[in-house]
Amino acid sequence: MVDPVLPSSGVLSPLGLDAVRLSPGFWGDRVALNNDVTIAHCREWQEREGWIGNFRGERPRRGREFSDSEIYKLLEAMAWAGHPGLPELASTVARAQEGDGYLNTRWSGSRYTDLEWGHELYCYGHLLQAGVARLRAYGEDELTRVTIRAADHVCRRFMEGTQACGHPEIEMALVELYRATGTERYLEMARRFVERRGLPALGEIRFGRAYFQDDVPVREARVLRGHAVRALYLACGVVDVAVETGDEELLKAVESQWERTVARRTHLTGGMGSRHQDESFGDDFELPPDRAYNETCASIASIMLAHRLLLATGDVRYADLTERTLYNMLATGVALDGRSFFYANPLQVRVPAEPLDGVNHAAEGGLRSPWFDVSCCPNNIARTLASLPAYLAAAERDGVRIHHYTPSEIRGGDLAVRVETGYPWDGSVLVRVLADGAGRIGLRVPAWASDATLARGEDVRPVRPGYAYAEGPWRAGDELRLELPMRPRWTFPDRRVDALRGSAAVERGPLVYCAESVGDEPPLGDLTARVEPPAEHVVDGVVELEVPAAIGGADGDGWPYVPAPVHGGGTDVPLRLVPYHRWGNRGPATMRVWLPV
Ligand SMILES: [Zn+2]
Repeated sequence: MVDPVLPSSGVLSPLGLDAVRLSPGFWGDRVALNNDVTIAHCREWQEREGWIGNFRGERPRRGREFSDSEIYKLLEAMAWAGHPGLPELASTVARAQEGDGYLNTRWSGSRYTDLEWGHELYCYGHLLQAGVARLRAYGEDELTRVTIRAADHVCRRFMEGTQACGHPEIEMALVELYRATGTERYLEMARRFVERRGLPALGEIRFGRAYFQDDVPVREARVLRGHAVRALYLACGVVDVAVETGDEELLKAVESQWERTVARRTHLTGGMGSRHQDESFGDDFELPPDRAYNETCASIASIMLAHRLLLATGDVRYADLTERTLYNMLATGVALDGRSFFYANPLQVRVPAEPLDGVNHAAEGGLRSPWFDVSCCPNNIARTLASLPAYLAAAERDGVRIHHYTPSEIRGGDLAVRVETGYPWDGSVLVRVLADGAGRIGLRVPAWASDATLARGEDVRPVRPGYAYAEGPWRAGDELRLELPMRPRWTFPDRRVDALRGSAAVERGPLVYCAESVGDEPPLGDLTARVEPPAEHVVDGVVELEVPAAIGGADGDGWPYVPAPVHGGGTDVPLRLVPYHRWGNRGPATMRVWLPV
C-alpha cells in the first residue's frame, strides 16, 4: 500500500494515498499547486544554493550541516507526487554514498564526532523516509538501494553502545523501513535509540539536555518539552516503536504527554513552540501571541504525531487537533502562489516586514519568504501536501471513517463514496455512495460543532462531537448529509495564559480568524473589540467576518504605567477579520488573532 505510515496494528488502518482522490477544492487545489509548483520551486532553490552540488562534490561545501536532509525531504515529496525529476536527483545523492553505506556531505572524514549538533542520523532519517516513499509508490530503484545501505550502516555502527542523535527523526524512519521491508533489525535499532534517551545518550549543551529530550527517559516524561520539532519527531518514533512492539505502557506515556501538551503548550492555531531562543515549547501556559515561534515544521510534526495516535487509538481528539493544525498552520505556511513560506507563525505582528526576494537569513514571521538559510519548512510542506490524502480518512474493521471534509472520492473495504462540500466555508457535507456496498461510514463531528445533524434520506438526527455513524448496506446513489453549524464564535483563553488575558479571538468552523492591516488600513496596535455576533461577508469565495471595535484613544508618549486601569476612548470602526491562513498574502502587514475586548 502507498502511504507514509503503515502500522501493523491499531484501531484504524490507512487506506493508502491512491484510495483518496482529491478533486478541486480547498485541499485539492493546494495539493495540485504543491505538486506542480512548490516541488519545482524547492528543487530550483536547492540547486541555486549549492545544496545539491554538495552531493556532486562541489567545493566549498555550501549550506548548513543538515542541508542534506532538505534534499531528502524533497525526494520524499517527489516520490509521493510521482515527480519525474526523482531518478536524476536520486542518482546525484547516490554518488556521495561511501562504500560502507555512510552518506553525508558535511561530515565525511570526521564521522560521528558531534552527535549533539551534527545531525548525521537525523539526515538518514529523512533519507529513509524518502526511500520508503519510493519503495511504496514505485518499487525498488537506486534511491531505495541507497536507503537500505545507509540503514544497514547505521545498524552496524550504532546497534551496540549508548548513543543517539541530537535531533530525533531516524527513530520513526527506521520503524517505517522495517514496516516496508520486514527487516527486524531496523525496528530493534529504533527501539534502542528511543530507550537510550535520557539515560543520557548525549553530552551537555548550553540549552540543557531537555532541548533534545535527553533529560529523562521517554517513559518518565510528563509533557513534550525542549525543541518542539525534536520533541514531536521523537514522540512519533516512540508511538511507532510502541505499536510495533506491543508496548502499551510506552504508548500510554506518549498519549499523556500529548494531552498535557495540548492543554498547556499549544496555541489556538495548533502551533507549538513559544521560544525563539532554542525553538522550544517553553513553560506551561507560556503562549505569547507576538513572540510565538510556532515553526511550520513543528506543526507538521504535530500532525504526524496526532495521525499516529489516531491510527493507534481511534480517538477523535487527535483528528480534531489535526484539523485545527491543517487549516491554521499547514495552510498558512505556504503562500497562495505556492512559492513562499512562513517559518515562524506568530499570532500577532506589530510591524510590517520588509519585502524580500531572496534568501531569508532569519526565521522570523512577517512575510512569507521564497527561501531560508534553513529551509526545513518549505520542503516539509512539500512532502506533507504530496501525501495529504493519508490524513483525510481511514479504514476500521467494519467500515470507513472520514476525518476531514474536502471534495474527494474515497474507496476503502467494501465502500466507495464521493464527498461533495464547500468546507471550510460551508458546513454542508454530502457523502454520496458510488457503488453497492457494505460497512458503516463514520463521519467526524468536530469538537466545535454543537447542533450538527446527519441526514439519511428523510431521516434527520442530531449528532454530537465525535464520530457519527451510519450503518450499511448501501446502494449506489445513497446519500448522507452532514450539516455542521458554521456560526462564527468568540473564543476566550484560559486565564493562566497571562499573555492573552483580556483578549478574545474569533473562529468559524475549523478556521481561526485575525485582523490584518495593510498600507493605510486602520492600525491594530490600539484597538478594543466588542464581543457581539460577527457579521459575515463572502469575498471572492472566502468568508470574511466583521466585528465592532474602537481604534485609537490611548494617548501620550510618556511612562506607560499608571495608577489605575484606563478604559474607553477611540473611534468606532467595523473591524474586518480574515482567515489566519490567508494573512500576509497582500504584502507587508500587521496582524493580530487575539483582540483586546
Ligand atoms: Zn522548519
